[in-house]
Amino acid sequence: MHRTHTCGELRLTDKEKQVTLSGWVQRSRDKGGMLWIDLRDRYGITQLFFEEGKTDSTLFEIARSVGREYVVKATGKVLERFSKNETIPTGDIEIFVEKLEILNSSKTPPFTIEDESDGGDDLRMQWRYLDLRRNPLKKNMMLRHRMGIETRKYLDSLGFLEIETPYLIKSTPEGARDFVVPSRMNAGQFYALPQSPQTFKQLLMVAGYDRYYQIVRCFRDEDLRADRQPEFTQIDCEMAFVEQEDILNTFEGLVRQLFKTVKGIDINSVPRMTYDEAMRLYGSDKPDIRFGMEFHDLTASMQNKGFAIFDSAETVLGIVAPNCGNYTRKQLDELTEWVKRPQIGAKGLVYCMCNEDGTFKSSVDKFYTPEDWKRIAQEMNAKAGDLILVLSGALETTRKQMGELRLNMGARCGLRDPENFKPLWVVDFPLVEWNEEAQRWFAMHHPFTAPKPEHFELLQSSPGDARANAYDFVLNGVEIGGGSIRIHDKNIQSQMFNLLGFTPEEAQTQFGFLLNAFEYGAPPHGGIAFGFDRFCALFGGSDSIRDFIAFPKNNSGRDMMIDAPSTIDPKQLDELSIGLNLKS
Ligand code: ASP
Repeated sequence: MHRTHTCGELRLTDKEKQVTLSGWVQRSRDKGGMLWIDLRDRYGITQLFFEEGKTDSTLFEIARSVGREYVVKATGKVLERFSKNETIPTGDIEIFVEKLEILNSSKTPPFTIEDESDGGDDLRMQWRYLDLRRNPLKKNMMLRHRMGIETRKYLDSLGFLEIETPYLIKSTPEGARDFVVPSRMNAGQFYALPQSPQTFKQLLMVAGYDRYYQIVRCFRDEDLRADRQPEFTQIDCEMAFVEQEDILNTFEGLVRQLFKTVKGIDINSVPRMTYDEAMRLYGSDKPDIRFGMEFHDLTASMQNKGFAIFDSAETVLGIVAPNCGNYTRKQLDELTEWVKRPQIGAKGLVYCMCNEDGTFKSSVDKFYTPEDWKRIAQEMNAKAGDLILVLSGALETTRKQMGELRLNMGARCGLRDPENFKPLWVVDFPLVEWNEEAQRWFAMHHPFTAPKPEHFELLQSSPGDARANAYDFVLNGVEIGGGSIRIHDKNIQSQMFNLLGFTPEEAQTQFGFLLNAFEYGAPPHGGIAFGFDRFCALFGGSDSIRDFIAFPKNNSGRDMMIDAPSTIDPKQLDELSIGLNLKS
């Protein structure tokens, strides 16, 4: 028998028990006549104890010889510790070891396997299986597991069926590049890995499986950032005979259940905001509503005062940063530099301090009198001690820039506590958006999203104004989920493809299977998908989804541990009828 207990299990109530534990040596302390070993497994750490004179001398030598990360099996008696360790649950006891077996030795690991490791990101990715031994990652894996279980419990309780869909498919247009897989048996032909099971889940609705879900891997060949991975996991769902309201309610329930069971937090009803309102007030379709700082349109009140930059701008927007009126010149210069960075791209920043004595000091005092500022401050509801920040320019760009500045100020003011959760539904997204570069309309969500019935007409006359029954679930400024009511009518779907620039032939070649299915009784349907990794990361209070994936890839899409991607044998290429034409 390798163990009677785990390393996280024994307490004072087990005193005097004869036990066997197996695990990894986290650390040993040799004080001459006495030796302690911290033995670790998935469940915790238990201290082993050896004492010269009392412990058999051969055993003492073996104990002395074990290094970090050796795998050992120890048998002995549970004793009450002389000096207790309050920081771990097993801290009251130790095992006086009578038998120690080395099950395996270990090289010295390349970094310390402690809660705070000395290993850098790359190193830890390369030895991920060692990194996974550390508590912070272990906690994340357990959280992820719990989220998955609770999701399945909830959806199962509502009659959702988990149905797998294929990974080797044909391109699904979600707006990213596909990963492709060559087919040996069909020379010159390729599968695509699914960017999501979108078309399959719609086909399942046609097939009559009116409540589908799947916790499923998706693949998108995109440029990576810290919160993106080439393969990631979605909680993917679809329902038939539903309207938007049914979907929002069902999945608000899922979110509530996850918060309750995993975080112990009660979420009341989730507020809703239209896309237009989100853009107008926060300059973002995923506003962080943990704090206010909404935009004020100052165009009318700040133009025609002789300040050419504002006069020539399409829009002038302001926010109030509460209690920042005491910012120093240095801080304000820093803020100005920040908005001028290429990532934000503003030309400059206008500010006005609302002094405690009721006076105002702005960076454009030449053009605006104290009276002007008093009026503006009133309009913006700014109080003494606050700081007014103003940006101007083209509407869309200025909104985006102000959105970034707002988030930055929110963080500076300590208003973005990761343990304060503020979910939000953003609804009524535009159906399509114009792409200047490609000179055509692109689906804002995907081409299967239904326009609002009252906006059908606009598909012809003014597509950009058409709104869709599409919604995003946003948590603390992060888009966690998105979905829509789908088109289930062949003619509207064809119209949509047409608007997106597909010829009828192209639409038929790429999506014939779906268009055909719509001729065999497609029910009204809709769905949603949640980004599971990100959901877990937010619940774990982290920005990085990588920490919540057991074996993630780095920013260049490499798996550092197995060293993939890699070249393949010429024989394999030959079998696939593939010749390489590498451009350096
Ligand atoms: N397939 C969509 C996505 O991956 C989600 C959905 O519309 O259900 O974003």
